[in-house]
Amino acid sequence: MTLMSLSEMARCFRTSRVLQRYLDGEADELTAARVAEHLEECRRCGLHAQTYRAIKQALRSGTQDVDELALHRLRAFNRSLARSGGVTDPE
Ligand SMILES: [Zn+2]
Repeated sequence: MTLMSLSEMARCFRTSRVLQRYLDGEADELTAARVAEHLEECRRCGLHAQTYRAIKQALRSGTQDVDELALHRLRAFNRSLARSGGVTDPE
């Protein structure tokens, strides 16, 4: 695992906060553009987005057993961000 700079971490944190809205198509244009750009360059968040999409799809199709692994990954991701030292959103 590589070390991330604080600004990268902050970007990830910001992205994780709006990712849900972005994937639901509810983010404003600027936010959507920023998120899309970040997902392109950040494998971690790209994976996060993929996982979230998979979960949404499973929910939509009425599948009850959402992939446990996907859920676990999502939780671990959120925890790792929360643990990363109180990065606050400058906005
Ligand atoms: Zn990221």
